[in-house]
Amino acid sequence: MVVMKFGGTSVEDARAITRVEEIIRTRSTEKPVVVVSAMAKVTDQLLAAANAAGSSAREKSLEISLALRERHFNAASELLGTGVFSEFHSVLETEFNSLDDLLRGIAAVGELTSRTLDNVVSYGERISSLMVTEALRERGLPATHVDSRQCIITDSSFGQAAPFFTDTELKLKEHVLPLVNKGRIPIMGGFIGSTRDGVTTTLGRGGSDYTAAIVGGGLTAARIEIWTDVDGMMTTDPNICATARRIKSISFSEAAELAYFGAKVLHPATLLPAMQKEIPVLVLNSRNPKNDGTRITAQGKPSKNIFKAIAAKKRITIVDVKSTRMLMAHGFLRSIFEVFDRHKCPVDMVSTSEVSVSLTVDTVGSIPAIAADLQSLADVKYEGRKAIVCLVGDNIRGTPGVAARVFGALGEMNVRMISQGASEINIGFVIEEDDVPEAVLRLHKAFFTEVDSEVFGEALHKELVRR
Ligand code: ADP
Ligand code: ASP
Ligand code: MG
Repeated sequence: MVVMKFGGTSVEDARAITRVEEIIRTRSTEKPVVVVSAMAKVTDQLLAAANAAGSSAREKSLEISLALRERHFNAASELLGTGVFSEFHSVLETEFNSLDDLLRGIAAVGELTSRTLDNVVSYGERISSLMVTEALRERGLPATHVDSRQCIITDSSFGQAAPFFTDTELKLKEHVLPLVNKGRIPIMGGFIGSTRDGVTTTLGRGGSDYTAAIVGGGLTAARIEIWTDVDGMMTTDPNICATARRIKSISFSEAAELAYFGAKVLHPATLLPAMQKEIPVLVLNSRNPKNDGTRITAQGKPSKNIFKAIAAKKRITIVDVKSTRMLMAHGFLRSIFEVFDRHKCPVDMVSTSEVSVSLTVDTVGSIPAIAADLQSLADVKYEGRKAIVCLVGDNIRGTPGVAARVFGALGEMNVRMISQGASEINIGFVIEEDDVPEAVLRLHKAFFTEVDSEVFGEALHKELVRR
């Protein structure tokens, strides 16, 4: 079995969905299970509609929903023949009517809870998966829709729900596996799930990749394919650096590190289920399906280059915690981290001196409350608009002088914090958010002008691929 996930741009309109059908057809003897995102930008618009309703801007909210309704109707009418379209028309009507009822309800109370927000944004994947199913059937593929909320069972951390793997695996075996065994192609919406009580949840932005990995892990797939709009994982974000190169082969741990530190091409949790069962993950371009993409495996291929890629994570806040009395006393660090933990605020980078601890977080919202809780122990100062830039590669281990080369390439740029993890596959540092493009370009030039052709492919900007 192979799990194939198609992202937002890969299902953005009728043309894109037709390409998806052609790609799935090439895997039809391999028992495909398909996971799709909402059409491109739909999740953003659903968020905007929900927020408008939450501030009682009822008309604005319904206008956004109407535009979404029209976009989906247009795509469906292009994809489906008249007979099927008139049937599917009423399915779409039902979905959008219930979305509008929900938005009216939110506007009436003028309050948006995280639980209701998840319900609103879930419509993107609910509807796209129904539409892709119809489109594939229209073209003769044996597609069957599966409501992901029956299978992906999560806790109730709305907006960032965590799956219960054992429950989920059982449900996948109940609802998805029998279809595959009958020669059907199950089509599921990514990103969405439900609690054990059946309340709709979402896995966090970009979470459809994670759905694919949960399904692939749960059903022990032979391969998980992530189909997107670039040729694979690149040596850096191709939006920042037009000469970014495709990485042909990379290890799970390197790719996970890159995803965590900002390579948006993969949701950070994606590789966990794949790693556990050693299922290869491929990142492929739905606009350029002949390209081999990136193959992510337990080991990856050895490379002559020190690094595999550079990632950048923006919207970082540096928090300086200066001890007022305990001065590195035993238990000081623990009491600090307990406060962050209580506020469910993950810490990315830490550096300590005798009297203070500096750390970075990416959730600025809870900092004032954390500072208040820390007041009896320490003075807290914080500064936003920072970014973590991170260079990742297995060869950092055992290459002397790596840090000197990195900071040499950065020249006079103002670096605020530095970390070289114990895992020795990453060197990270904190800079001003505005300095990210310059830093990435300098590092890319220094480390990827000459590359090992066994491991790195051509430099292809996605815009070039599109033409
Ligand atoms: P999808 O909708 O298919 O999930 P995303 O927009 O979530 O696609 O992810 C793909 C995008 O990730 C690319 O278009 C690219 O702009 C961005 N990106 C950031 N860093 C990288 C990287 N290192 N390699 C490839 N793409 C990257
Ligand atoms: N549609 C969701 C988002 O935009 C999930 C995804 O595309 O992966 O975040
Ligand atoms: Mg994505």
